Amino acid sequence: MIVAKYPSLETKWLHKHAPWMPQPKVVFSRLKDASGLYYRPERGVFLSNGIDRSNGVIVVDPDKHIIVDAVIAHEWRHHYQHFHGPYKKGPSWYDLSDKYSYKEAIIKYFVQSPTEMDSFIFQIKHGKDKDDEMWLEWIVKETEGE
Ligand SMILES: [Zn+2]
Repeated sequence: MIVAKYPSLETKWLHKHAPWMPQPKVVFSRLKDASGLYYRPERGVFLSNGIDRSNGVIVVDPDKHIIVDAVIAHEWRHHYQHFHGPYKKGPSWYDLSDKYSYKEAIIKYFVQSPTEMDSFIFQIKHGKDKDDEMWLEWIVKETEGE
């Protein structure tokens, strides 16, 4: 059972950090291999379920993650990056999860992508998930030797 602190799935609680940005829609949907997804804004483009992409869309799979806030915070940061940051670079999660163990894939995913790392840090700060401490420990241990 999902108990969301923000059951209306809005983003005002995050928006205060950048109130000039358009508010993305947030919707629940089943996702194949991720707990969240971000669609950048595209005027006149609609998702298959009729959702308007004009302001960007955050998709959350409530079955994958217990803490919905963490997913919304993470994907919202990609929305912020769309307007203020570099475009997403780094390996695809799908490629990594095919080749490596879950732990190795998590480490490589965040270490090799500044935008994913930025979203992860934002997620920890604003909507921490139960696994975040463990992931952070893996990542920190991996990068300590460098
Ligand atoms: Zn991400």
